[in-house]
Amino acid sequence: MSKVRIYTLAKDLGVENHKMLEILDGLGVSYKSVSSTIEEDTVELIKEILAEEAAAAAAQPAQAETSSQRATPAPSSGAQAPSAPPSSQGAGAQTAVTEAPAATATADEVPHRAPVVTIMGHVDHGKTSLLDYIRKTKVAAKEAGGITQHVGAFEAKTSKGRIVFIDTPGHEAFTTIRARGANVADIAIIVIAADDSLMPQTREAIAHAQAAKVPMIVAINKIDLPQADPEKVKTDLTQLNLVPEEYGGDLVVVPVSAKTGEGVEDLLEYISLTAEIEDLRADPKGKFSGVIIEGKVDKQAGVLATVMVQEGTLHVGDFLVVGENYGKIKAMTDSAGARIKEAGPSTPVQILGFSTVPASGEKVQSAKNEHAAREVIATRVDVRRDEENARNRRRGPRTLEDIMG
Ligand code: GDP
Ligand code: MG
Repeated sequence: MSKVRIYTLAKDLGVENHKMLEILDGLGVSYKSVSSTIEEDTVELIKEILAEEAAAAAAQPAQAETSSQRATPAPSSGAQAPSAPPSSQGAGAQTAVTEAPAATATADEVPHRAPVVTIMGHVDHGKTSLLDYIRKTKVAAKEAGGITQHVGAFEAKTSKGRIVFIDTPGHEAFTTIRARGANVADIAIIVIAADDSLMPQTREAIAHAQAAKVPMIVAINKIDLPQADPEKVKTDLTQLNLVPEEYGGDLVVVPVSAKTGEGVEDLLEYISLTAEIEDLRADPKGKFSGVIIEGKVDKQAGVLATVMVQEGTLHVGDFLVVGENYGKIKAMTDSAGARIKEAGPSTPVQILGFSTVPASGEKVQSAKNEHAAREVIATRVDVRRDEENARNRRRGPRTLEDIMG
């Protein structure tokens, strides 16, 4: 074994991927992602560093982990440590070190949040089937508080934690949301049928994910079919400069079957792994912000909106502002249809309480009370009118012809 993938090593050594990347940064070793491979001598260095850290932690259990312990000298080829502080037990190093953990402490206090995943790909390649399979096997059935509605998102419970899927597949949902300046998805799954390989909408989906700088995972679907040719898919991807891991690149490619379920567990694991690397965090105690996933009118209930909570926590009774409209949350249900009173980050919730249907991708804010909500809207209306007036002035005086059409 000469080379090893970062995540494999992390797993073998029982440390988090983060930790591994931190050590590599300290060593000045470059990598693209946790799928990147590292040299054997770097592996040895990492083991030494971890052993030293363990020894230091045992000797001084009260002391916080210090960055100086990472700075092992004797860099090998390709593993230079130019910027690392000197390895020292001296007093100078000690004082310098006490500040470093304090600076990261605040970032670490913001809790992790579940990843939000979108599934894109060519028509008939199996997006809906894959989502259905995951929903069927990973969503704990709850006592529904009413009629279970399609809310545009669902939460899957996996052994690695929660994963939120946007279940309006197709890139329209993705692009309309992005067109309004919002980004809901953290990870994009590109579904490619093994019997069809790359098709126009596959390329579009890839382009969208790249433009949004959202990490991609390729799911090669329908591997149960006799005519499935996953190798062709991988070769075709390589031609787009997307090189699968097994060809030495960084693209995670997972063969799956939405029909038999084969590979789906692996896919979920790769999603969790990617989420871990992305280090997704949000503060449930922070100021609320969210995005509309879907809005619609229900004959019985009235206007229903699915909101993805991105920061902070929503409560029944909160006032929400969307564009130039506001509403008060009368009732809230989770994606399984259960009534809930509050919802934290990365939770899709269906909200009853708007009077007009909000559009996908609109940003949602909260206001202290009705008065505050009205004020926010009044300001927005003013700003819009000013902009409109300015635009009209720039166009110059309109002729009678313009007006009469
Ligand atoms: P979408 O347009 O991407 O949402 O694709 P669908 O999920 O609607 O699937 C299109 C067709 O492919 C349907 O007839 C599915 O039953 C079929 N299909 C989807 N996934 C698989 C699979 O893994 N294996 C097989 N054999 N058929 C599949
Ligand atoms: Mg579909």
